Amino acid sequence: DRGQSRPPSTNCVIDHGIRCFFLFLLQVLLVFAKEDSQSNGFCWACEKANFRCSMARTPESALECFSEKHHDLVIIDHRHSRHFDAEALCRVCHVDVSVLTCAHFLRPDREEASVMPLINAGFNRRYVENANMMACYNELLQLEHGEVRAQFKLRAGNAIFTALEQSQEAIEITSEDQIIQYVNPAYESIMGYQQGELIGKEIIEVPKSEKNKPDLLETINSCIRKGKEWQGIYYAKKKNGDITYVTWLKCLGETAVCVCLDSSCEINFQTSDTQDAFLSFFFFSPESGSSQRRHSSMARIHSMTIEAPITKVINIINAAQESSPMPVAEALDRVLEILRTTELYSPQLGTKDEDPHTNDLVGGLMTDGLRRLSGNEYIFSTKQPHHIPSHLTTPLSLNDIPPRIAQTMENEDSWDFDIFNLEAATIKRPLTYLGLKIFSRFGVCEFLNCPEATLRSWLQVIEANYHSSNSYHNSTHAADVLHATAYFLCKERVKQSLDPTDEVAALIAATVHDVDHPGRTNSFLCNAGSELAILYNDTAVLESHHAALAFQITTRDDKCNIFKNIERNEYRTLRQAIIDMVLATEMTKHFEHVNKFVNSINKPLAALEENGVSILTSPENRILVKRMLIKCADISNPCRPQELCIEWAGRISEEYFAQTDEEKRQGLPVVMPVFDRNTCSIPKSQISFIDYFITDMFDAWDAFADLPNLMQHLDNNFKYWKGLDERKLHSLRPPPE
Ligand code: 5GP
Ligand code: MN
Repeated sequence: DRGQSRPPSTNCVIDHGIRCFFLFLLQVLLVFAKEDSQSNGFCWACEKANFRCSMARTPESALECFSEKHHDLVIIDHRHSRHFDAEALCRVCHVDVSVLTCAHFLRPDREEASVMPLINAGFNRRYVENANMMACYNELLQLEHGEVRAQFKLRAGNAIFTALEQSQEAIEITSEDQIIQYVNPAYESIMGYQQGELIGKEIIEVPKSEKNKPDLLETINSCIRKGKEWQGIYYAKKKNGDITYVTWLKCLGETAVCVCLDSSCEINFQTSDTQDAFLSFFFFSPESGSSQRRHSSMARIHSMTIEAPITKVINIINAAQESSPMPVAEALDRVLEILRTTELYSPQLGTKDEDPHTNDLVGGLMTDGLRRLSGNEYIFSTKQPHHIPSHLTTPLSLNDIPPRIAQTMENEDSWDFDIFNLEAATIKRPLTYLGLKIFSRFGVCEFLNCPEATLRSWLQVIEANYHSSNSYHNSTHAADVLHATAYFLCKERVKQSLDPTDEVAALIAATVHDVDHPGRTNSFLCNAGSELAILYNDTAVLESHHAALAFQITTRDDKCNIFKNIERNEYRTLRQAIIDMVLATEMTKHFEHVNKFVNSINKPLAALEENGVSILTSPENRILVKRMLIKCADISNPCRPQELCIEWAGRISEEYFAQTDEEKRQGLPVVMPVFDRNTCSIPKSQISFIDYFITDMFDAWDAFADLPNLMQHLDNNFKYWKGLDERKLHSLRPPPE
């Protein structure tokens, strides 16, 4: 009921502040050597006034109690000087804290004497002994509304000006007639003015932005004149005029308070609960260190000139939190926690007890060498890049491809095309032949302005740098990825999204993407301390090598330099796109690429009614499409017709087995223990590979490019592996009946 008994609030900042200070219960210390009717009277009066009351019997306990609670009001019994020296006690309390009202009382039978010694001691009221409870209560009320309130005003004023001076936000206070009376240091530094240039001037003289409505200042003025509040956005210019600041104004009665903020925190003041933002700003006193520290660190972020998008996002969420109800604020805390991690796109890897096949795939494909180091040296089978083998230099053009080979490529534009037929017909040189056919279909030579002979030489030298001794990562895999890439490039959505440069880049990237692959994983090379791992700092070792070597081989010799005749800028663009795509095949970034694709392309497209060409063709999104395209082409084996899928599974397993064999031989850590030729269940490893990497990625790619046949094969193949696994078979195929 104390709240209700307060005078109605006026539109005055200080009064508002006082009310906030008063929200804390007034604390009273009664110092009485002995309990009597007088001490009881004050105790009861405190209770009635809803003050918090402590009682001390000795000066020592009084001081102890006071130093702990810093009471607003201390009432010291001065009637019996034999108990303690009331004046000394009062002096000590006053020395301790400046904000204090002391009362003293006199026995009615004593002779009147001067109150001067009491005033000198720090007493500021004298109460003549009167145990009547109402008299005590009235005395307390008068103290509260007189001395205590005045002390509070001083305290509030001090706190406000300390806050204003130390605030990182620019603040300007004007009089009713728009004369600037105060600006804080932050205002000076943000707006570029000196106090002296502003104080006493009308705010109209300070340059404003044209963004304000012409009559804005008049509106504000009339509000103030009527004693009403005004709040809204007011644009002001810095002294140098080049940056426009968003200004938030709140005009209260006699004073206008203006908070200038950098436009990045506009959100702070557009939330519905603007008042809170404003008030919380005012009432941190110098002691409330935590809120102040937070405030100034926010201000430091705000003042950063080059802000990363993630910083902006975090700032927006921080600001929104301030005016959100608890559950929302807490949910946003969790969001912030996630946003602050650097690995936004990689799922947290599951616990150890998960399926060992998934664990090994994750360990083998998703981690790079930085976590696994060993001193062993792995010697590459080819130290020097291959040149074109002499027996291959016989002229060969699309027109004189042997009919037997041409025949195997007839249905090259179909998904069901059998690459292994071509591999056999070309004696393990499918890349050159398929390359010639596909590059010609896409007009790559015309685009690059390069003779077909150069393209042919290029294909031959690239193919020669694939290791035919690898069971999986040989030129047949490259030809397969090229085939899938060409197939995807013909899909309507992909065509809408990519331009001719992107198409050519994708075909070249697919062709070179695994060149000189040693048939070992990145983890292996890092563990073995291979030259390549040293060269590329255990980071995307193979992919960096494939891309770098491809350009070395291509540009080393004019005879095979397919880029020789294109313009410098065209070359830069093409080269950048090729490198980006080859690096995108690195599996540590698998989830990053897939999630970015889903978030930036699938989701926005799904939210749109019409076709959303602008989503498809922005440079950022085209990069995401190209990455997704080559990734899907690279690991599309599980979406191929069953027989092809089984063959690929056999090949990758054999390559992994060979790696495990070598790891054991050399005493290296075994990166993927499940890929042990004596124990491995190939169906299980395929099921895990599909579950973990393939399903989500192809769902997303299918949603974009529309690939029902691939999804059908995937489903079919998955069931095939499940069937074998249910029969507890470890082999590629069921045993003959
Ligand atoms: P690449 O090295 O071919 O550019 O990237 C593809 C990655 O996925 C390779 O590390 C390859 O070993 C792996 N991969 C491709 N197909 C399969 C598969 O069917 N099963 C498993 N376990 N891994 C595969
Ligand atoms: Mn590959």
